[in-house]
Amino acid sequence: MPELVPPSKDILVLVLENSCRLGCPHCFVDAGQGDFDQARRVAFKAHDLGYKAYFYATQITKRCFEIYKYIGQDLDDGSICVRAEFAERQLDGLVSQSGRVGFSIHGARKETHELITGPGTWERTLDGIRAVRNANKFGKINLWCTLHGKNYREVTEICELAADLGVHFLNFQKLSFLGRARSLPSEWFLGRDEIGHILRMIQTVYDANDPRYPHITLAPNWGITEHQAARFEEGKKLDYYPTKQYCPAGRQHFTVHSRTLAVYSCHHFAADERFIIGRWTDDGLLVERDNFHETLRSLEEPCGSCNIAETCGGGCRAEAVGEHMRLTGEYNPYAGLTTCRRTYNGEHAPLLTISTRRPATLPLPVSDEPNEFKFPTSAPARL
Ligand code: SF4
Ligand code: SF4
Repeated sequence: MPELVPPSKDILVLVLENSCRLGCPHCFVDAGQGDFDQARRVAFKAHDLGYKAYFYATQITKRCFEIYKYIGQDLDDGSICVRAEFAERQLDGLVSQSGRVGFSIHGARKETHELITGPGTWERTLDGIRAVRNANKFGKINLWCTLHGKNYREVTEICELAADLGVHFLNFQKLSFLGRARSLPSEWFLGRDEIGHILRMIQTVYDANDPRYPHITLAPNWGITEHQAARFEEGKKLDYYPTKQYCPAGRQHFTVHSRTLAVYSCHHFAADERFIIGRWTDDGLLVERDNFHETLRSLEEPCGSCNIAETCGGGCRAEAVGEHMRLTGEYNPYAGLTTCRRTYNGEHAPLLTISTRRPATLPLPVSDEPNEFKFPTSAPARL
């Protein structure tokens, strides 16, 4: 039975504006399909109904700031994601921006970075970051870096680069199989050895305790450590991430696609309509299937026997489901996160910051679309 999720500030409605026209081949969403006006209407309505609204845009224009202001979005709570050249053109607007301004960097070297963003983008990116750094001494710059098979050896250099650029935060994401990344060749995805190597490198950087380094964090899709779970339970993380479980997908977090108004459990699932769990209505979030509440009771290993599963929520569900699809070709909402940091026995788990197999509730065939991945031959279109 479809159920309305009662509006509450504990429920996050993330509106995926989704009009980015860049062509990053590893993005977890299909970009360029958004509807800005509809996104604004949903964000305003979600706020007015009493949900916590979050507007997820890739622009830093005045109209976005008007939305952030209306819905009370704390820009320290998550950074605006921009391309460097665009940020340079919007410097005036950023001078007084006290929250985070985020940039994506795809390696520590020109050739690695440009594998994703195309020729000529390396210098432009660094110039843009420096320009924002110089224009706004009080804003906080956040670097995002998605690690994959082609850049993971550069982790230490990326940290050095971030220190040289004077940024405040450096966040490492793990390349996930969902969205456009499904078309990437298999060697782009990280295996256990590479992940162990990355975690060791990050731990070494962290242990160096060098004040020049930014605050380094790992995105949720690496999983959490027992130490982190304990902190979460103590409420230390709750100011920043006020959810009952580390992965709140489909329980406390929902994503609305701005054009289709389809509801997904998390923005990481939002490039694929087979993951739709409901729709946005004038009354709010209507969940029609697979609301993720059952998932925790049937998690597979290693999550099934994990002592912190209740706190964790079964890892990053998007990562676990995506990883399982990549390795087996099957959709399984109960898949365990087999490369969770906790499974590295603590040895490579940086301190930074039930198993009953059940049939899938959604019979999702793996996409049989041809592999369309092509290395970019020119710089992506500017916003
Ligand atoms: S094993 Fe699973 S439930 Fe346990 S911490 Fe890792 S992702 Fe979370
Ligand atoms: S699926 Fe992953 S990214 Fe989405 S809410 Fe859960 S932890 Fe966060």
